[in-house]
Amino acid sequence: MHTFQHLLQRDRQVLWHPYASFATEQPLFPVVSAQGCRLRLADGRELIDGMASWWCAIHGYNHPVLNEALEAQIHKMSHVMFGGLTHEPAIELAELLVSISPAPLTSVFFSDSGSVSVEVAMKMAIQYWHDRQLPEKQQFLTLRQGYHGDTFGAMSVCDPVTGMHNLFSSSLMQQVFIDAPTAKVDEDCEPSAIAALQQALENGHQKIAAFILEPVVQGAGGMRFYSADFLRHARRLCDEYDVLLILDEIATGFARTGKLFACEHAGITPDIMCVGKALTGGYMSLAATLTTGHIAETISNGNPGVFMHGPTFMANPLACAVSLASVRLLLASDWQKTIQGIEKNLKQALGRCASLEAVAEVRVLGAIGVVECRQAVNMQQLQPALVDQGVWIRPFGKLVYVMPPYIITADEIDKLGNAIFEVLK
Ligand code: PMP
Repeated sequence: MHTFQHLLQRDRQVLWHPYASFATEQPLFPVVSAQGCRLRLADGRELIDGMASWWCAIHGYNHPVLNEALEAQIHKMSHVMFGGLTHEPAIELAELLVSISPAPLTSVFFSDSGSVSVEVAMKMAIQYWHDRQLPEKQQFLTLRQGYHGDTFGAMSVCDPVTGMHNLFSSSLMQQVFIDAPTAKVDEDCEPSAIAALQQALENGHQKIAAFILEPVVQGAGGMRFYSADFLRHARRLCDEYDVLLILDEIATGFARTGKLFACEHAGITPDIMCVGKALTGGYMSLAATLTTGHIAETISNGNPGVFMHGPTFMANPLACAVSLASVRLLLASDWQKTIQGIEKNLKQALGRCASLEAVAEVRVLGAIGVVECRQAVNMQQLQPALVDQGVWIRPFGKLVYVMPPYIITADEIDKLGNAIFEVLK
């Protein structure tokens, strides 16, 4: 039997996929290799990658520098426990992250995935207030249409409707939600959004440990871009009401929006920041929660005097080694110019989709391009149609969007735009 069909058949016997049914057959495509900005399918077709494997593979696939970093590390050690032991890859990566992150963030907690780094951030906030003798501060304030991951704490701060988790709502901690701002990235925030934030803090600050949000870009909750000015007000009001500010930079970090971290659009710094996804250049799973010296010291001088979290694969040396190589590669490149170029090309390539009947809006920020349709797209039809066009783009809901590897060429971006145009036409 053809390898392609055979793999599909075996997959369907034993595997779950993200947010997928085990019973109903969804379009599925076996990949055998990936190189640069291309994925090769088991039937020999080659696709231009518009997704960077969900924001991660910023340098493209099978990159010689990243490969070499992993190979060098694997001959030293793939993994050792991090309790009582340490190693250079973790130390160097933590030093590097501290050096490029907003200034007050000076300590790094490594974990295995974005969701877990959010759990860690939430636990840090609760433990901080516990050690400040304010143990009633356990709740979180967040924006509607946000997305922070699939574990229970993270789910509790995802949008209750678009966050895909409403099924679990009665098992989740009850958090405080306010509407996300609607003003555009470089516009002043509308006063009503600031007033809503102030009101929520005024009403709830005695119980609220932190305000957690994705800066400037709300990803999986709707691919929305919003006013950076809102973040300036958020910083000011959090300080005023003694509430910590947690920024989830898991999707936005490492230059995706045109700044190294999206909070730089607002010139503000968080108390706690989560990074993941592109951290390893998309090679493996690693995330980090960074916090300030003040929070780290408060937790460490409190009771029990240790931070209560410690995953088995904390600071995995392979992940740290490839991550170091990836971040260094990014910093050594002229990434500002690269992202500006991608932004310009995306505007051009996706722009003409705006004229289509089915399309409500086209928007681009940095290396993120979004075509929002008027109605939810039919994935059964659209996914194979996109593959037939020679591109890998994975729509969800009303959104057909791309966030390609940064090595993508103008011509490849053009092909992504044409493919979207053709399938939506
Ligand atoms: N936060 C944000 C902003 C995300 O986009 C995601 C993943 N889509 C997560 C958290 C969760 O990360 P992970 O899937 O690695 O657990």
